[in-house]
Amino acid sequence: MRLILLAAPGAGKGTQAEILSEHYGIPTISTGAILRKAIKDGTELGRTAEKYINEGKLIPDDLMLKVMDERFKNDDCKNGFILDGFPRTLAQAEALSASPIEIDKVLSIEVDDQTIIERLSGRLECRSCGTTYHTEHRPPKTPGVCDKCGGELGARDDDKPETVKQRLKTYHEQTEPLIEYYREKGLLRVAKGQSEIEETSKVVFEALEA
Ligand code: AMP
Repeated sequence: MRLILLAAPGAGKGTQAEILSEHYGIPTISTGAILRKAIKDGTELGRTAEKYINEGKLIPDDLMLKVMDERFKNDDCKNGFILDGFPRTLAQAEALSASPIEIDKVLSIEVDDQTIIERLSGRLECRSCGTTYHTEHRPPKTPGVCDKCGGELGARDDDKPETVKQRLKTYHEQTEPLIEYYREKGLLRVAKGQSEIEETSKVVFEALEA
């Protein structure tokens, strides 16, 4: 299974990717996580990416495509993968279509902007392993501590309300057109995001396995 997850920031893409990854036994490739690690490690990619991310804008296509070219060479991609956060522009989608990689399905998770703004204000992320939590919808067992690795939890810098507004604008302008692009290719499946993770997961599996 080679799957693309398309959704606005905060729609639950990362969480559903984790669930799907476990179910199908294939890795999730999260471009956001790759870029945040590069920032933490202080690499050249991280230094370039940081200013775009903090402004809620996308990093340039040529740079993102180079990162993904390298990532796809990794052995763990052989049996399939879930793409969380890539492609995010038509240019990225066209580059992926022109590559030898065959995508099987594209899942769009639909959530309205108001719900997203509310959700992102309670989102927490593990500073060590990147697992996401939510103060109400997915609280950790011990406040401030990651259930999986014991790492420290905190809000993402780009979840600040001003940045969230810009990220949503970026999503509507640059990523949403991909829904039509993949519908025309006959690859699109749609799942309506629900208020609970388990309910969203149910509609996600129904959409993928229909
Ligand atoms: P995410 O964790 O998927 O919300 O990504 C966080 C940020 O990383 C985005 O707001 C963008 O600035 C950047 N980013 C992630 N994926 C891409 C991509 N495919 N193309 C360009 N920028 C990206």
